[in-house]
Amino acid sequence: MIIRIPKGTQDILPKDISKWYYVENKIREVLIKYGYQEIRTPIFEYTELFVRGVGDSSDIVTKEMFTFLDRKGRSLTLRPEGTAAVVRSYLENKMSRVYPVLKLFYLGPMFRCEKPQAGRFRQFHQFGIEVIGTKAPEVDAEVIIASIEVYKKLGLKNLKIMINSVGCKKCRAIYVQKLKESLKDKMDFLCLECKDRYNKNPLRILDCKKDSCQKVIKKMPTINEYLCQDCRQHFTEVKSYLDSLGIKYFIEPRLVRGLDYYTKTTFEIISGELGAQDAIGGGGRYDDLIEELGGDSTPAVGFAAGIERIIMVMNQQNIEWPKDKGLDIFIVKVKETNKDMAFKLLQKVRDAGLSADMDYSSKSLKSQMRLAHKIGAKYTLIVGEEELAKNMVTLRNMQTKEQKEVEMDNLIDELILCINST
Ligand code: AMP
Repeated sequence: MIIRIPKGTQDILPKDISKWYYVENKIREVLIKYGYQEIRTPIFEYTELFVRGVGDSSDIVTKEMFTFLDRKGRSLTLRPEGTAAVVRSYLENKMSRVYPVLKLFYLGPMFRCEKPQAGRFRQFHQFGIEVIGTKAPEVDAEVIIASIEVYKKLGLKNLKIMINSVGCKKCRAIYVQKLKESLKDKMDFLCLECKDRYNKNPLRILDCKKDSCQKVIKKMPTINEYLCQDCRQHFTEVKSYLDSLGIKYFIEPRLVRGLDYYTKTTFEIISGELGAQDAIGGGGRYDDLIEELGGDSTPAVGFAAGIERIIMVMNQQNIEWPKDKGLDIFIVKVKETNKDMAFKLLQKVRDAGLSADMDYSSKSLKSQMRLAHKIGAKYTLIVGEEELAKNMVTLRNMQTKEQKEVEMDNLIDELILCINST
């Protein structure tokens, strides 16, 4: 019996890898243009980082982490998101000394033990950006704009930007109190999870998708009415920077997002094409997180997006993917006795910077040609006794089926010419 892939994970097969290269390259291209530098943190961290960073009442920490003990009994967790690790690295490497404002991006796998469904996996990939060290509202707008530009560069259409402000510690506390008071006599209508949230993190009730809870939530006061002067001003400015560039957004007063660390601005980008899991990315400000993780009080804002979901939307919107480059040259030997020469030529072609391969088995010429065709090689180079005697090889264009003999001395120049003209 073969061993199967773990639930909620997937292989990215060679046939799809060029899509991933394309998306990843576009992400890097756009973010570097916006002045972000890439950071790569470990796949696992000490569990404590996520408990403190993401929040001990968040769904991620309470139900979704892949946690294990190392051989010395220390608790480690596969990273469920990117921000906590970026902040850990920022503090550990004392990056603030070099960069008063630091702009970082990351790209890589994340792990959450969720119930797998369309667009929701246990191992998935995110790209994310973090700006650490500034409370300027322009930066909240820039983070939204940069993420939208990534989507645009990939050709995605019909995306909606939802924004909100969840206030700061002070004004949120007043709102949460009010929310609890208003929810008190509606407890019977809430789902079990929300009943639990009522004590642990009532704000998260606003995020519940269940119909029964939604009916209650709709009648609840919204946070906007409770924002303090500073948070209100910040939100107004973020909106005005988006307005100044003609960026359309919708205000969603109940958008609180699933991670506990957000303050002030929260936002989400949604796509109509994704069904229930419609968020293609989201983020917000997290002005208290760095202090909570042991640093000085430092404002920050960030964003993260799911790459599988981006690819799903691109497929659903029939966005044309760039063509696979394919192999430039496949070397074919007429007889086994031409093997050594074919092997040498193969290296020569690769050294010239072209992609090349050959079949090392002793299969027939016909079978080698079939393989070249299957691989999608642009040209085959046929190495045979007769041509070699004349210091030549045969070059065959696999598309037009034209073939010609080429002098060994001119071979590389000729190949480069041919490949450049395809
Ligand atoms: P979050 O870190 O929860 O704010 O999620 C940011 C983005 O990551 C979401 O908008 C999704 O696009 C993506 N995402 C989150 N969880 C998953 C998952 N389990 N599977 C696939 N994509 C996910």
